Amino acid sequence: MKPIRVTVWSEYRHERHSEAIAKVYPDGMHNALKEGLEPYGFDLRTATLDEPEHGLSQDLLDNTDVLTWWGHTAHDEVSDEIVDRVQERVLNGMGLIVLHSGHLSKIFRRLMGTGCMLKWREVDEKERIWVVDPSHPICDGLPEYIEIPEAEMYGEHFDIPAPDNLVFISWFEGGEVFRSGCCYQRGQGKIFYFRPGHETYPMYYRDDIRKVIANAINWAKPVSNPPMVRGNIPEFMK
Ligand code: ZN
Repeated sequence: MKPIRVTVWSEYRHERHSEAIAKVYPDGMHNALKEGLEPYGFDLRTATLDEPEHGLSQDLLDNTDVLTWWGHTAHDEVSDEIVDRVQERVLNGMGLIVLHSGHLSKIFRRLMGTGCMLKWREVDEKERIWVVDPSHPICDGLPEYIEIPEAEMYGEHFDIPAPDNLVFISWFEGGEVFRSGCCYQRGQGKIFYFRPGHETYPMYYRDDIRKVIANAINWAKPVSNPPMVRGNIPEFMK
C-alpha cells in the first residue's frame, strides 16, 4: 500500500518574530509536527505561508492526500486563489486537519459557512480533552481523556455547524467547555478540527497529541472512487 501523502502547512510567523516562541519551536511548529508524524509511515512534506503560492502549488495539492493547517496571525494574508484551490481539492476528496487557531482561517470558515469564533483566555489553566466517541477511529488507542497541565482556554459558544461526529470535548479549570474534536464531510473530503496547539506551549511534541493527529490523517485520507457522474443522463442504464 502506498503511504498517505501528507502536507503540513503552517503560517510560520510567530516562531520567526518572537524569541519566546522560537524557544518552544526553534525549527517552526510545522517541523515539530512533521517529525512527530514520521514514525507513522506517512509520506510527509511541509509548506508555509511565505513561500511562493504559500507552498501550495496545484501540483503539490494534487499530490496531497491530507493537508494539516495551522494559522493564527496572518489568516488574511492567505490569498483567495489558494483558498479556492484548497477548497476544490477538499471537495474532490483531500482530507483537511485544521489545528487550534486555524478555526478562523479562510479555508475553515469557507468550508463551514459560519463565523467560527469562540471564547478564549490565556492564563495557563488545566485542560482535559475527554473522548466522547470511543468507537471513532480518531480515538483509537487513547485513554479516557488527555490532560494538558497548562493551556490556552477555548470556550463555547464555538460558532460552527453541528459536527457530523463530535469526538472530543474539552473541560477547562476555569469552568468552560469546548467542542475540541469535530468531524465533517464536505463533498468527498473529510475535515477534522482539533483544538490543541497554542504557539506558546510545546503541544506538538506530545506523543498523545501527535497520535490524535496521525489517527485523524488515517481517517481523513481519500477513498478511491471512480469520478462521480452528475448532470443529465439521457440513456437508460441497462
Ligand atoms: Zn492560541
